[in-house]
Amino acid sequence: MASIAAIYRALYACHGPQRWWPGETDFEIAIGAILTQNVSWANVEKAIRRLKEEGLLNPKALHREPAESLAQLIRPTGYYNQKAKKLRNFLDWFSAYGYSFARLGGIDTGRLRKELLGINGVGPETADSILLYALKRRVFVVDAYTMRIFGRIGVLGGGEGYAETQSLFHRRFAGDVAEYNEYHALIVNHGKSVCKKKPLCAECCLARYCAFTASRRVFLSG
Ligand code: SF4
Repeated sequence: MASIAAIYRALYACHGPQRWWPGETDFEIAIGAILTQNVSWANVEKAIRRLKEEGLLNPKALHREPAESLAQLIRPTGYYNQKAKKLRNFLDWFSAYGYSFARLGGIDTGRLRKELLGINGVGPETADSILLYALKRRVFVVDAYTMRIFGRIGVLGGGEGYAETQSLFHRRFAGDVAEYNEYHALIVNHGKSVCKKKPLCAECCLARYCAFTASRRVFLSG
C-alpha cells in the first residue's frame, strides 16, 4: 500500500501548491471556518464580503453586532440563524483572550483544541481548521473528501471516525505545519475535481496507488 507521504507528493505534483486558507487575516480565517459548515465556499465569500463592507471583520465590532442583523448579513451561508449563534459563541470565547490571536499563541495545542471543542457549534473539523490555518498548529484536518479518497485508495478500511483518521495521519505523515496546510487543501481540490462521487479514475494521479481502480480493473478483465 502507498504511504501517506507518497500520496501527498503525488497530489502536490499534480495539483501544485494550493496556498490556503483563502483569507486576509487570522480572524477572517476563523470566521470562514465556522461559516463554511455545510455550504460551498462561494457562498461563504459572499457573506465575508458583506461583513467586510459593513466594517465588521474585526472581532470587537462583530461581537457588538445584534444577532438578528448578523444573521441577515451571513444569510448566503444557509442555516444563518444557527451560524450567527455559533459566531457569537466563538466571539464570547475569543473575548476572554482580549480578541487576540497573539495571546492564543502562548497556549498549548491540546488545551486550545479542548477549549474550541467546548464552544457550542464548533466540531472537530472546524476546530482543527482554526488551529491549523489561523493558529498555525500542526494538526491534520479530516473531512468528507479525506474519508472518500483514502477509503477508496485503501488506506482507510471503512468505519474509522474523525479521531482515528486524524491519529493515522499524525502518526504516518511527518510533515510540518506548511505541509499539513497543503495536504488538506490538496485533498479538497482532488475530491472536488477528480475523486468525485463519480470518480474520474482515468485522469487520476493516484490511480497507481488505488485499490478502487485495481478492483475495477480485475472486474473489467474478469
Ligand atoms: S483512482 Fe479513482 S477512486 Fe482512486 S483516488 Fe483516483 S479518482 Fe479516486
